[in-house]
Amino acid sequence: MSLKFFNTLERKNVEFKSIEPNKVQMYTCGPTVYDYGHIGNFRTFVFQDILRRYLKYKGYEVTQIMNLTDVDDKTIKGAQLEGISLKKFTERYTKAFFEDRDTLNIEQAEQYPKATNYIAEMVKMIMKLTEKGYTYQNGGAIYFDISKFKNYGKLSGIKTQETSRRSRIKKDEYKDEAIDFILWKPWNKNDGDIFWKTKLGKGRPGWHTECSAIANLYLGPLFDIHSGGVDLIFPHHENEIAQSEAANDSKFANYWLHAEHLILDGEKMSKSLKNIYSVRDITKKGYSGRTIRYLLASAHYRTQLNFTDAGLKQAESSLERLQDFIRRLKNFEDGKNNPELTNKVQEFSRMFEAEMDNDLNIPGALSVIFDFLKDINRLMDMKEISRVNVDDVYNTMIRLDKVLGFINTSEEKISEKIKELIIHREEARRSKDWKKSDLIRDELLKKGIILEDTLDGVKWKKKQ
Ligand code: AMP
Ligand code: ZN
Repeated sequence: MSLKFFNTLERKNVEFKSIEPNKVQMYTCGPTVYDYGHIGNFRTFVFQDILRRYLKYKGYEVTQIMNLTDVDDKTIKGAQLEGISLKKFTERYTKAFFEDRDTLNIEQAEQYPKATNYIAEMVKMIMKLTEKGYTYQNGGAIYFDISKFKNYGKLSGIKTQETSRRSRIKKDEYKDEAIDFILWKPWNKNDGDIFWKTKLGKGRPGWHTECSAIANLYLGPLFDIHSGGVDLIFPHHENEIAQSEAANDSKFANYWLHAEHLILDGEKMSKSLKNIYSVRDITKKGYSGRTIRYLLASAHYRTQLNFTDAGLKQAESSLERLQDFIRRLKNFEDGKNNPELTNKVQEFSRMFEAEMDNDLNIPGALSVIFDFLKDINRLMDMKEISRVNVDDVYNTMIRLDKVLGFINTSEEKISEKIKELIIHREEARRSKDWKKSDLIRDELLKKGIILEDTLDGVKWKKKQ
């Protein structure tokens, strides 16, 4: 089966073909590091992670570049409010971003270039655009003249009006109207001590130029995949295309993939609407990073996902079912050899891939997994499956989960101290010291260990 993506540029599902065989070069717009990322941002980052993992699963060597926006109006304002340097301020949130990434089991990209390390490249790009006649100056600022780029609007479908062509915008973020956008912002007093002295004067580049310059440096003028949330289609990605294609006389990216929004009470989760939850807000409620990951990944990336407490609980219980299944496979003793099992497992893998090949249909892939789980659980109940069969199932589950990143295979490892506590509790229970037994049980629960008393003795598992 061939891999298909919905390419925003073509507005349809198309077959994916990499520029170089077995290699994918991918650019993903990274966070603006002025606060903790919210789970809306992380919906997009989890989607990009599964995209990356699935490409690897299909045998591609993936190079993913994710920029970190560590200079813009928001970061400057944040640093000034706290009276600390921009570097110190953005480093705090960069560190937090990496911690949250790890909490959500998102793989590391190959590079995380910080915008402030690439000002020279951005200046070079602006100069090139100026030489080619795509820019003009106004009040010390340099603007991109969108009327000079004939394909402006090809990604978002926005129309350029004669009237709007004569207007321009200083802000990086704007909506709905195709207007000339800023490439170089001259210093003003609000910027304080944040500026670069360059051939373009004293100031700083606009946000859109950052991604174009960094992508060009790391991936060249043309690469395979560019991606972000749908809010970036216009103007950010439209502007990236205009600058890059105008500067390099080359197509910029072949495939554009955009994740729909995470919403809360019908509105996009965003800092400006003050309706945000960070990853930390949710883990503090007792949910694991993997539960959050499961929730964010479980809806199709091109549909909006409404964030609710009920959704989180459901994600937790689905993940628990998956984890219980893995545990059961590990501990299953033996049963009858099942000659049909090899075919069944292969068919399961094929069905999973067919769903993922179809524009990363994770809801479809999950229903394939849960049907399979039910089937195998039934066979284990009846002992109509051998240990060798079960190993086959287990290895396949782990192989497919390399794409999803839901299963915690290290969960069976516990520290010596916890082992000792479990033994002490067993002793207390056997000697009918219920008070002590309950105390230890509660202590273990606080450490994330759940005990289950079964006919075969006490069993434990880690809280998801
Ligand atoms: P930012 O830090 O605002 O530049 O955003 C980082 C990434 O998160 C971008 O790809 C955005 O498109 C994406 N994003 C922002 N808000 C949401 C949301 N509510 N749902 C999904 N993705 C979002
Ligand atoms: Zn970008």
